[in-house]
Amino acid sequence: MGDAMDHEDRLTAAAEQTEDRRADASLRPHSLDEFIGQEELKENLRVFISAARQRGEVLDHVLLHGPPGLGKTTLAQILAAEMGLEIRLTSGPAFSSPAELIALLSEQADRRAIFIDEIHRLNRVLEEHLYPAMEDWRIELIIDKGPNARHFNLQLEPFTLIGATTRAGLITSALRSRFGIVCHLDFYPPGDLAVIITRSARILGIGIDEQGAHEIARRSRGTPRAANRLLRRVRDFAQVAGDSIITGEVADAGLTRLGVDKLGLENLDRHYLRLIMEHFGGGPVGIQNLAVSLGEEQDTLEDVIEPFLIQAGLLQRTPRGREVTPAAWRHLELEPRPGDQGRGSTQ
Ligand code: ADP
Repeated sequence: MGDAMDHEDRLTAAAEQTEDRRADASLRPHSLDEFIGQEELKENLRVFISAARQRGEVLDHVLLHGPPGLGKTTLAQILAAEMGLEIRLTSGPAFSSPAELIALLSEQADRRAIFIDEIHRLNRVLEEHLYPAMEDWRIELIIDKGPNARHFNLQLEPFTLIGATTRAGLITSALRSRFGIVCHLDFYPPGDLAVIITRSARILGIGIDEQGAHEIARRSRGTPRAANRLLRRVRDFAQVAGDSIITGEVADAGLTRLGVDKLGLENLDRHYLRLIMEHFGGGPVGIQNLAVSLGEEQDTLEDVIEPFLIQAGLLQRTPRGREVTPAAWRHLELEPRPGDQGRGSTQ
């Protein structure tokens, strides 16, 4: 159906993601001072880092949660660098057996941090191996079965586990309680994003003025990764049009051509809202229903699409499902049909 993102869009999105990941690496801040915004969080982390250093201990385990692209991986690398630790980067779904996790935890390495992205996707059996490892640097191994079963304790070198998740709600309370430091990353206000864009432009050698940076910032969904991506795309348009500086006007024209509207919504966001409006009377509608109609994974909708729409006041999550707000109808310039919204379930 017309609401689904078409094949071409997907291929472009996938290619852009690969390119973005590469470019991201050059733009990644390397210290807390270079990490822009999230002031309160940074202040707290500074205190925890210097306290751990004074005591000569490893930093307590850290859980970072918040939507994708807000800087969780970046912060994990910075924390390790500030503590003088080597960091191993991995992710929850990357482990297929307990042996792989045990091998990683038992590596003989002094002073290190282990970063597990998408930690909510770690399988439960593996997760149980983490508990004693996080609490007292120990892994319990059971060899043989039944009456012959023997228990061994494997002693580990101290390490700091840094877990990241887009969904704190999916982490078991047993795992969550073992993190001494839990940090939430919020969407960035446009002022902070403008600073990030100006910094990225300087690193990439892109000419941009203040209005240009602000225009991109306002339309970056509160997300540094999106801000950097849009900066590079707008640069392409500017370059082809022969503009050497990205001004407010150049940014506006480029973003509009990219399908990024005044609020920063892109095709998939608009498809999502329009689907609820046109096919489900504005909601409430269940997430599975939306995922099937859009041909998208439910996780993508919940992790990538919905948090910003909710923050922008366009969408509400209710016990009966997703509902668009009057602001969403106005933004898409659509009219609810009589009795459409709030009439009850349309599933
Ligand atoms: P996450 O792990 O939360 O998905 P990342 O840490 O990969 O996000 O961040 C995506 C990109 O955004 C990074 O490569 C970096 O360039 C940029 N970025 C994120 N947070 C900041 C920040 N606070 N200041 C500057 N750049 C940032």
